[in-house]
Amino acid sequence: MASSAPPAISGSCLCKAVEFTIEEEPAAHYLCHCPSCKKVSGSAFMHNWGFAKEAIKYTTGTETVRTFADRNTHTGTPLERSFCRVCGSPVAIQTALQPGRVFIPAGALDDTSLQDQVPLSENFVDARVAWIGKVAEKRMAGRKKA
Ligand SMILES: [Zn+2]
Ligand SMILES: [Zn+2]
Repeated sequence: MASSAPPAISGSCLCKAVEFTIEEEPAAHYLCHCPSCKKVSGSAFMHNWGFAKEAIKYTTGTETVRTFADRNTHTGTPLERSFCRVCGSPVAIQTALQPGRVFIPAGALDDTSLQDQVPLSENFVDARVAWIGKVAEKRMAGRKKA
């Protein structure tokens, strides 16, 4: 392997029916506070990393990936939201606003350091929950490291 090639990033859905690798140095990531991201994640926001579409290769589970056309978006431009039909995990987001780019949820990436990095930007802060950065107490310490 050429020494200049970036190390492949790996990722999967929760049940690992869908697994993929990304051969691109991670660079751009952001938080999204839009109402659709709240619904699809079941949480208060999404943290997504952007990659070139051609850098992403599914290693298993392409037949397991389903794509929902999200037409009720904050921008008015539809989003293609891909997820595992077995476990429901979101695995990719695409938008016509950024053709050739695919956005991968940080939690789908195996390298947890990519979840630890401070996002470069936030989208739709008008919809951001007010408590971010204000959680006072830590509870339920984990039993194992991923
Ligand atoms: Zn799955
Ligand atoms: Zn969003």
